[in-house]
Amino acid sequence: MNWRETAAAVRWNIKPFIDGRFSASTSNEYFETVNPATEVPLSRVSAGSVADVDQAVRIARRRFDDGCWSELSPGRRAQALLKLADLIVAHRTEIALLDSLEMGKPIRAALRDAGELAPLLLRSWAGFADKLLGTSAPLSGHTLSLNTYEPRGVIGAITPWNFPIVNAVYKCGPALAAGNTIVLKPSELSPSSALKLAELALEAGIPGGVLNVVTGTGATVGIALAQHMDVDLLSFTGSTATGRKILELSGRSNGKPVLLECGGKSPQVVFDDVDDLDAVADAVVHSALWNQGQVCGAHTRLLAHETIKDELLRKVVMRAKEYRPEDPLNEATTFGPLASPGQRSRVKAYIEQGLKAGAQAVLKGSIQEAGGCYVAPTVFDRVASEMSIVRDEIFGPVLCVQSFATEAEAIAQANATEYGLAATVWTRDLGRGKRLARAVRAGNIAVRTSGKEDSGSGVVLSRAPRKASGFGSELGLEGLQSYSTLKSVTFSGA
Ligand code: NAD
Repeated sequence: MNWRETAAAVRWNIKPFIDGRFSASTSNEYFETVNPATEVPLSRVSAGSVADVDQAVRIARRRFDDGCWSELSPGRRAQALLKLADLIVAHRTEIALLDSLEMGKPIRAALRDAGELAPLLLRSWAGFADKLLGTSAPLSGHTLSLNTYEPRGVIGAITPWNFPIVNAVYKCGPALAAGNTIVLKPSELSPSSALKLAELALEAGIPGGVLNVVTGTGATVGIALAQHMDVDLLSFTGSTATGRKILELSGRSNGKPVLLECGGKSPQVVFDDVDDLDAVADAVVHSALWNQGQVCGAHTRLLAHETIKDELLRKVVMRAKEYRPEDPLNEATTFGPLASPGQRSRVKAYIEQGLKAGAQAVLKGSIQEAGGCYVAPTVFDRVASEMSIVRDEIFGPVLCVQSFATEAEAIAQANATEYGLAATVWTRDLGRGKRLARAVRAGNIAVRTSGKEDSGSGVVLSRAPRKASGFGSELGLEGLQSYSTLKSVTFSGA
């Protein structure tokens, strides 16, 4: 496929999609997106307004109340979601190209997101649609109590730019499987694949108005959605700072429940009993740098036992040097630009802060200042836990390396963070693996004995972030439960 030619032929159509059709925002205002691979303007986005959000919520409420989706049998909803998964696969090249152009994701990775991960997730939630079983309890000879799950109603969903199609499916899959209607606000940097998803949902038989998308900024559309009085639940993925604002907006409006998937600063803890340091180094570097380090669960703190630290660091640096930023539309590219000039400035500022604080850049990646947001990986040694490069989520290709002497020290370092998303422990001692799995305060822990892992296996298992990384579960059956509410009904009398 000639991706450059196909890219030049894209007709951008970025405007709110409400009640099954596109219509320009009532604001009559537009903003430009920029291709991060070239820094050339890419498209004009219709900037959604508060009135658009009101309209989308009104329609979503109407569709919820008329039962066209919420009252279908779970099996029928599952059929539509399975069809939607097939349609995403059928349109994967278009979706992948939109994501790649808008946020710089290498086209091969974007194809995997659209052609494999997004449909895999959607099919998983479709499979759970008819398994949302309630409970019953006979309270006495004449009384029976039933607890059943009901959809919550209108879901407001707000997503970031790092995995555009996957982020959109992550919200819509469990919310739709549970019978809700949705108003989705994708990131202003990467709205197109969410709009495509809404169009395909219609084609899959999901009635118009069940899945609505309002394009625009967080400052207008995001806030309007989070403080809307008629939204029943707000599901947010993004930074911890914005997540905290969302909580406030909920509290100041109708007190809607909130699901938060926020930032992370996950540790990789490597003990000295691992037998294949090369395989560990491969996995450590991949986990820190894939998607240019723009992953909530990126393991950007490497904690290595003092006896193996120097050797592991040498292997890590050797591999990190191979992650050279290249044109994302080249099919051989595995490491692209950062998602925006703003993201480049953020990463650059952190690297400068690290150097100023005395950290040693054992690998200092080049930063292209114009014509593309290309930032090569940086690896810091001699860091201290109070440095901002160790404390904060950078969301870019920066890895910090520390060492420990004892298991207790490893646990303390792993937990020395405000975040609690994920952690990986490398050891062949399963007793130690179990102790760390209990002691590390994160929602998703991998204990690994070798470099090989089955990456597909975790998809249907739910997990819940902790601490400043958020709360609530969206994967698996628990995901459907999060988007449902319990109703208790008691039957009594002779
Ligand atoms: P962000 O918080 O800046 O924006 C996320 C979304 O919120 C965007 O759609 C944005 O327009 C909107 N928004 C911004 N301000 C808002 C406000 N005041 N009110 C309502 N909405 C607002 O995050 P980002 O830069 O788009 O994404 C990167 C962040 O996302 C990182 O912190 C990353 O860890 C996080 N993330 C977390 C997960 C997870 O599963 N935990 C997954 C992906 C990304």
